[in-house]
Amino acid sequence: MNNVIELKAFRRMESEINQYIHCAECFNELSDGDPPKEYQVLEIGWTEKGLQIWCRRHDKNVLHLDFEGRKLKALASAQARRAPDE
Ligand SMILES: [Zn+2]
Repeated sequence: MNNVIELKAFRRMESEINQYIHCAECFNELSDGDPPKEYQVLEIGWTEKGLQIWCRRHDKNVLHLDFEGRKLKALASAQARRAPDE
């Protein structure tokens, strides 16, 4: 993946998420009060175009970001090493 310029974080990062992304089908299957994060099983990975979020439970695309060839900056302080294709 050559579309991301990885920057090192020099301090512990806190979550800055202000709106979560959910699989719509997982969300619709929830019972009242069940937290989505305990039901859905998402995987995130690099693609030729950018970055994709995939629902493993439904085997469907949730979101596929297309960087349109641009290089983006990203803080990767806790990013796991890239695993070989499975
Ligand atoms: Zn799902």
